[in-house]
Amino acid sequence: MPTLPLPSELELVQPTPPELSAADAERIARDAFGLRATARALGSHQDRNFLLERGDEPPVLLKIANPGTTSAELEAQSAAAARIAERAPGLRTPRSLAPAGAAEAAGAAEPGAATVREIEAGGQRLGARVLEFLDGGTLSGSGHLSPAVVRGIGELAARVDLALADFEAPGVERPHQWDLRRAPAVLDALLPYVGDAALRERISAAAREAWAVVERLAPELPVQAVHGDLTDDNVVWSDPLTRRPDGVIDLGDLNRGWTVGELAITLSSLLHHDGVDRRAALRAATAYHRLRPLSRAEAEALWPLVVLRAAVLVASGHHVVATDPGNAYAAENLGHELAILGAATAVPLAVQTALVLAATGHEPETLALPAHGPLLGGVRPEELAHVELGTTSPALHGGRWLEPDAEAAAARAALAAGAAVAATRFGEARLTRSTPFAQEAPANVALGVELALARPVELLAPWPGIVTAGEDGLELRGDGLVLRLDGAEASAPAGAAEPGAGAHVARGAAIGRAEAQLAVRVHRDGGATPPWFAPVADAAGWLALVADPSPLLVGAEHASTSAGDAALPSGTRAARELIARRDAVFAEVQEYYFEEPPAIVRGWRELLVDADGRVYLDALNNVTSIGHAHPRLVEAVTEQWQLLNTNSRFNYPAVVEYAERLASLVPDPLDTVFLVNSGSEAVDLALRLARAATGRRDILAVREAYHGWTDLSDAVSTSVADNPGALASRPDWVHTVDAPNPFRGRHRGAEASRYAGEAVAEVERLAAAGTPPGAFIAETYYGNAGGIALPDGYLAAVYEAVRRHGGVAVADEVQVGYGRLGEWFWGFEQQGVVPDVVAVAKAIGNGHPLGAVITTKEIAAAYRSQGYFFSSAGGSPVSSVVGSTVLDVIREEGLQQNAREVGGYFRDRLAELGERHPLVGAVHGSGFYLGLEFVRDRDRFEPATEETAAICERLLELGVIVQPTGDHQNVLKIKPPMCLGREGVDAFVAAVDRVLTTGW
Ligand code: PMP
Repeated sequence: MPTLPLPSELELVQPTPPELSAADAERIARDAFGLRATARALGSHQDRNFLLERGDEPPVLLKIANPGTTSAELEAQSAAAARIAERAPGLRTPRSLAPAGAAEAAGAAEPGAATVREIEAGGQRLGARVLEFLDGGTLSGSGHLSPAVVRGIGELAARVDLALADFEAPGVERPHQWDLRRAPAVLDALLPYVGDAALRERISAAAREAWAVVERLAPELPVQAVHGDLTDDNVVWSDPLTRRPDGVIDLGDLNRGWTVGELAITLSSLLHHDGVDRRAALRAATAYHRLRPLSRAEAEALWPLVVLRAAVLVASGHHVVATDPGNAYAAENLGHELAILGAATAVPLAVQTALVLAATGHEPETLALPAHGPLLGGVRPEELAHVELGTTSPALHGGRWLEPDAEAAAARAALAAGAAVAATRFGEARLTRSTPFAQEAPANVALGVELALARPVELLAPWPGIVTAGEDGLELRGDGLVLRLDGAEASAPAGAAEPGAGAHVARGAAIGRAEAQLAVRVHRDGGATPPWFAPVADAAGWLALVADPSPLLVGAEHASTSAGDAALPSGTRAARELIARRDAVFAEVQEYYFEEPPAIVRGWRELLVDADGRVYLDALNNVTSIGHAHPRLVEAVTEQWQLLNTNSRFNYPAVVEYAERLASLVPDPLDTVFLVNSGSEAVDLALRLARAATGRRDILAVREAYHGWTDLSDAVSTSVADNPGALASRPDWVHTVDAPNPFRGRHRGAEASRYAGEAVAEVERLAAAGTPPGAFIAETYYGNAGGIALPDGYLAAVYEAVRRHGGVAVADEVQVGYGRLGEWFWGFEQQGVVPDVVAVAKAIGNGHPLGAVITTKEIAAAYRSQGYFFSSAGGSPVSSVVGSTVLDVIREEGLQQNAREVGGYFRDRLAELGERHPLVGAVHGSGFYLGLEFVRDRDRFEPATEETAAICERLLELGVIVQPTGDHQNVLKIKPPMCLGREGVDAFVAAVDRVLTTGW
């Protein structure tokens, strides 16, 4: 297709309208449109815009077009807006008001009615219109856009294109610099303004390559009236919390063009936003495609058009800066435009197009191997072993994936087991290439295969071609492919005219030799040279240029060593499938973290790893007290399973030793231990003991707490985050007192001391009413609200009142106890009290089901009135060994001290964040039980609930796992494994800082 020409240099420089004052605007509004209004100037690139405020009437926009725009073009814009409003109900767009008539008649113009009034200003005739004013905000700037927002803009583009599909108007076809059909002519005109020769050549080369593709596809690309500039700047939202776009403004670039060009313009405008990479931007293409399916030709043209748009943007930016040096806006925008170009051209077009095809349901092209013979001479298939380096590889247990020579060690092990050749897997997402504490996904998918050899191996040409020797090894070119053999030495090339020139070889000819190592890769000849590793998000795209070399190794008949079938790893797909299966067999009430939860397949210390080998910092798992996959625990449990696992009615050492150790951790007179399997059970048993010991039914609890799911532990749980109807559905024997929250409760700051008096008064009231509580249960440090210390003296006062009336003090240490607070092993130590019954779980088992109740002999004996106590697995040998080993590790690795030191550092760093980000309302907690509370304003302390949820979603993308807590779900509960180090703290703080800076 020939390029549409650019008629004249004039199009590139839009004439600006003359300056107009607010008084001028008010006069025009009155005389030309019959509107009495107060005018306020608004910014615009090309036109003069004024907001017209009209008392109680909604404000409208007076738009005076630049002299380069004809009335026909303006009428076309008005008609297009009317068409969008008609065809896309619910999508906001500023319709033009009828100019005639007085203020009371001012409403949207009838379709086809004239909307433009010609006015006289500064000696020029200009077209004026009054448009509806859309309130809300745009997506301008380079802040983050959430997946929902990105999908939203894609849908919006599709709806606009559908609405305008058959739109025709006299002024709609015009030569225009943003019409991508004219890109080559526009670039010819603009590129000379790019002073930096290297940049100019880069833009030019990228545009040439992109145009070659577009030109081939052009006959198949539908053309229609398009908005022409449907970008982040020109969509609006009405809900500031979601910022999901629901309106489109500024039809000033309305034009005919390729429909898919509209989407390309939209996509390119996303690429400069923080955290919106090519993969994220493709969400908009998928969303567009769902509403307006892209043909294969359109899908293939999409990314080349993104590149062309980026090229025009950068060139145009330079043109403006060169011709209008004072234009600070254009100068600043250059950075965004270069970022768009960088992202658009980050991988070869063929790779990105394969990804576009996959994102729009088209089958991507893949590279196939030709007929071939074996590469490795004299190696029998059974001599070949595979080295597994994926996320679940047993070779990488015990943190070995983090060791620098992990890959070599795995290969050595395979050779030591008798293999002649140990081969890694093509397409495997290697855990050994994954990086802890990184905000970006690693480049860890192997696009080649590496071999470790037990003996030197002769290399044969799998297909005929030309062999050349280079610095890194050999290359065989033939059949449109390059077979690259790094680490190979050439054998004397028979028939080579001169060294380095390359020798023709027949299939099966000896071409070289590998001594101990060889890296093999097959890629398309002529295109870009692929990397050895790519991020998962790009890996499937590389299949357009790279083939799996595994079948070559020992011959076609031998099974491939590839990691799977043709599909490269997609943890995202695996995770989605998993969630769907889970939904089928799980009740809905068993919720999961995150909107799109990754499939987590491994843990190590304070790290979690998903099926793609993405490594996350786990700031959430307080249950995993000593860290994930602790080798000592693994070993101890394995050993005990091999010896014995049975129930505690048998006499075996493990349970006795563990119970003794638990008893030794608490002060006198607590000396008697019950072993159960969870926190809920521990709380349930603790309350039953209290009731048995006192003969009373009534229980006093603290509001907003969670104590468990069993009947009894649930009865005393009133956290609305866990059960919205909690308070209304309490049995009559449960009584509650205010949550003693000094930050957002009824009494704040110094006033918080009043909570104790009120709770004591409630005890007195219950006693006077003849229902004194048999038990008072409370978390000893307010975990469920995000780690808030109870007011000084609170527990001492309430315990005293409860005991005075014959009740029992029950401490729930399930979340906060066991060293996590750093300063104190138990939360009750912080309050300077000793409870009568302690319930503990979670941390004590490091994730193994283990709970315990520790109390006095006397209270324990009261259980007798209830019968026997027996829990089949509670205190089993394996559970007991788990419990003892966890304690050993906490002591020997100094984890409580680590919680104090690193937790203190963590708290300081969070407080620093609070100095810079107003959303941070407070930093709570101690040690490794911290809470970062988000508020909309610090005076009213309005909880930032939706923001907190969105922040957690974005933090996941940045490799940090954390969740909200509290009744308002506005506190990040930070309770990592207690082995967390400063590097992890820094990673957490950097990620939160980035999110608070660039948005969520
Ligand atoms: N008490 C508290 C304070 C808790 O946080 C929890 C669990 N979130 C429980 C009890 C119940 O523990 P489990 O889930 O082990 O039954």
